[in-house]
Amino acid sequence: MNNLKDIIKRSIFVLYIICGIGEGFLHAQNDINLESLLSQINADSLLRTVTDLQNFGSRYALRDGGNQQVSEYLVRRLQNYGITTEVDIFHKSGDFWLTGAYDQPFYNVKGVLPAVNAIDDSLVLIGAHLDAISYVIDVYPEPLENAPGADDNASGVAVMIEIARICHENGLCFHRDVHFMAFDGEELGLFGSCYDAQKRYDEGDKIALMLNNDMVSYQPDDNWRMMLHWYPNAQDIASHAADICTQYTNITPVVPSVSENINAQNSDSYAYYHSGFKAVFAMEYTISLSYHKDYDVADSNNYAYLADVARYNLAMLNEYAGLDNALGVETHQTENQMSISPNPVSDRAMVWCPIPENSTAVLTITNMTGHVLLQHKIFGQTGVHYEEMDLSGLPPGIYLCQLRTNVWTNTVKIVKL
Ligand SMILES: [Zn+2]
Repeated sequence: MNNLKDIIKRSIFVLYIICGIGEGFLHAQNDINLESLLSQINADSLLRTVTDLQNFGSRYALRDGGNQQVSEYLVRRLQNYGITTEVDIFHKSGDFWLTGAYDQPFYNVKGVLPAVNAIDDSLVLIGAHLDAISYVIDVYPEPLENAPGADDNASGVAVMIEIARICHENGLCFHRDVHFMAFDGEELGLFGSCYDAQKRYDEGDKIALMLNNDMVSYQPDDNWRMMLHWYPNAQDIASHAADICTQYTNITPVVPSVSENINAQNSDSYAYYHSGFKAVFAMEYTISLSYHKDYDVADSNNYAYLADVARYNLAMLNEYAGLDNALGVETHQTENQMSISPNPVSDRAMVWCPIPENSTAVLTITNMTGHVLLQHKIFGQTGVHYEEMDLSGLPPGIYLCQLRTNVWTNTVKIVKL
């Protein structure tokens, strides 16, 4: 464990002086707003994830070894974006129409971005299935060796990963926990999502909304449309999702009629609905011609469209989980607010600590769950202090820097790169 001496190598006290140099970095924080975040969503970055997933050759859950390596890849991707992620393994046996009897483990991926200043104890879940399937049905059904599943459903997984990237690069947090889920065994009958939804129901989890993306990259013409499949307990959410989609993307949302809503039961969101949770399911309007074929490859997808689907998802997260504005929105220093620069930081950062009269101050660095990693007291130094911090010993992630005085407490997020 680091202690403060390691981290705060030296303190520079610049009493009552705010010099020109200080001014420069104090105001260097980025001004974050939703539009600028949405503009960072990148088609190439989505293509990269789809290609990586396609390169597994097959993600058919019942092949030898199952999707263990796929799940490990996704854990790495999310961890690299500072999201605490684990593989949740479950076991299942049965008989599948395509390849017969099975008895094996399945691999869900679960990442958690904890809330800051949580508004309640519910969470928002963004999910997509990681498995794929391909087969021919001729005289008898036969599985194909390659199941690239680029549209179905590397596209949905790529959306989730892209949002994690945007969160990481901007140090975003939300006012509700955001759970990033990739489900195994969807193509076999919603195995991963049924397992997770049931487990969450049993454990009393509260889910404000489950955002499902399944087949979200096939858009062959300029008339961009997207189905928003809905569930009877959350019809209002689907219509609000349509408003969000219209406001922030170039996609025309389609909330289907009851008879057109048939696919609602054919993807992971149905498992959550079945367990009593609210969900909305985004899907391309024109179903890909390569559905469940071994030519469902990255080349057939429309990545500009997929980027817009990701924008819809991030706007929905903002709507239902509430982006926290603590980082970056404050571009002008007020009298009793600490600031940190640069932020994000790679190793050293300056902390501007205004200490009120007749007050001591305590500067702490905690992780997102509030565990104190470093603590430092500043005694009776009324005025403005610059503390230089060496954060090189901390792993990449998001931390909270808190300055507590006798008069007020101020908390700022630090993103460690
Ligand atoms: Zn699918």
